[in-house]
Amino acid sequence: MKNVIDIVGGGCAGLSLAKQAKNLKNYTINLYTLIEDKKNDHYWGFWKSEEIQKLSNKTVKTWYNWKIINHHNENIFHSTKYPYCVIRKNNWLKESKSIAEKLKVNVFNNKVIEKENSYYVNGKKLNGEYIFDSRPPNFDNNILLQHFHGIEIECDEDKFDFKTAILMDFRCDQSKGIHFIYFLPFSKKRALVESTLFSNKVENKSFYIKEIKKYLKNILKVHNYIIIHQETGVIPMSYICLQNKNSINIGTRGGATKPSSGYTFNFIQYQINKIVNQIKSKKEITNEIHNKFDLYMDKIFIDVLNKKQISIPNLFIDLTKNLSGDEMARFMSGKSDFKIWLKVIKKLPKVVFLISLIKVSLYG
Ligand SMILES: Cc1cc2nc3c(=O)[nH]c(=O)nc-3n(C[C@H](O)[C@H](O)[C@H](O)COP(=O)(O)OP(=O)(O)OC[C@H]3O[C@@H](n4cnc5c(N)ncnc54)[C@H](O)[C@@H]3O)c2cc1C
Repeated sequence: MKNVIDIVGGGCAGLSLAKQAKNLKNYTINLYTLIEDKKNDHYWGFWKSEEIQKLSNKTVKTWYNWKIINHHNENIFHSTKYPYCVIRKNNWLKESKSIAEKLKVNVFNNKVIEKENSYYVNGKKLNGEYIFDSRPPNFDNNILLQHFHGIEIECDEDKFDFKTAILMDFRCDQSKGIHFIYFLPFSKKRALVESTLFSNKVENKSFYIKEIKKYLKNILKVHNYIIIHQETGVIPMSYICLQNKNSINIGTRGGATKPSSGYTFNFIQYQINKIVNQIKSKKEITNEIHNKFDLYMDKIFIDVLNKKQISIPNLFIDLTKNLSGDEMARFMSGKSDFKIWLKVIKKLPKVVFLISLIKVSLYG
């Protein structure tokens, strides 16, 4: 009889693992998940790389150029090797579930209960050789959060440079925290416009909407449009990597989110690839995906972000000024080398950086 792998949660991480069933032929794979709320759809953005090349057939749009803008400057990046892409969550989940089911993964719509390090479905204990848990984690409200609301619009005239994504435009209200507009033009007429904040407090929806409308009117000079989709999210900007006695945490609860940026999608793919290789070679399973140096630097960077005495919009422009498109994509995807780190560190404000470095080194 085959050994069993139980997966709790059928979101990004759970299904990324389940769809690798062809590489885990010696196992029966059971996936337990709640029924997804189809209304809760959104985009996942990431830089394409060799490792996640296969995902590209579900890509909605690929940009070879992207920008970071503040009131005084803009940095433009170009990469053909690591373009910025987005996929739509619901399409990706649907496709992944169908691939998993074709590979004989058993998908159950059941709530899993965790009690004293064991997992139960309808009162029956899960007994898999491996249990992977991807349920969303709880997190403290007093940590720095990335929170956002976005609208996808269609306007009646050709308005957008659809060849260039704007990852951060700081020309918006900075009174509530670090605030930028994320702008993804899908065509000359259609775009996603998102108001994103780094702060401790999630704002009322009306704040983000007001800021988006201001940006469309004053910066992009767009007056007539219809809203075709909306998305909302809150992502912790702190390292959450839960460790359990009898299970392995994956996805957001398993430390996949990069604390300083909130990017998670590509890190989940790296994490699952690593775990599949560990299972195949009967090695110990480890969910850590960010290297220790990156996490240390992220902590320092987040501490710097909390400092009131420096201009964060200028900091983002400065930090990325000397990076090529390839280098920035690699930096954001956790694939930096020494040369890239050196370019970034050189641009950090020395005194503020040193104070944060000492603080993080002493107190964690
Ligand atoms: C609006 C939004 C936009 C984002 N945009 C980006 C982006 O552009 N780029 C990026 O890299 N990251 C992005 N992220 C972050 C990240 O990619 C996602 O949150 C990702 O979905 C995390 O995957 P996951 O598998 O850990 O969790 P989820 O995808 O949330 O999956 C959790 C699963 O657990 C199931 N579940 C919950 N409780 C139970 C239970 N008791 N029993 C069984 N199943 C259960 C749920 O049904 C769900 O299927 C975004 C997040 C949000 C919310």
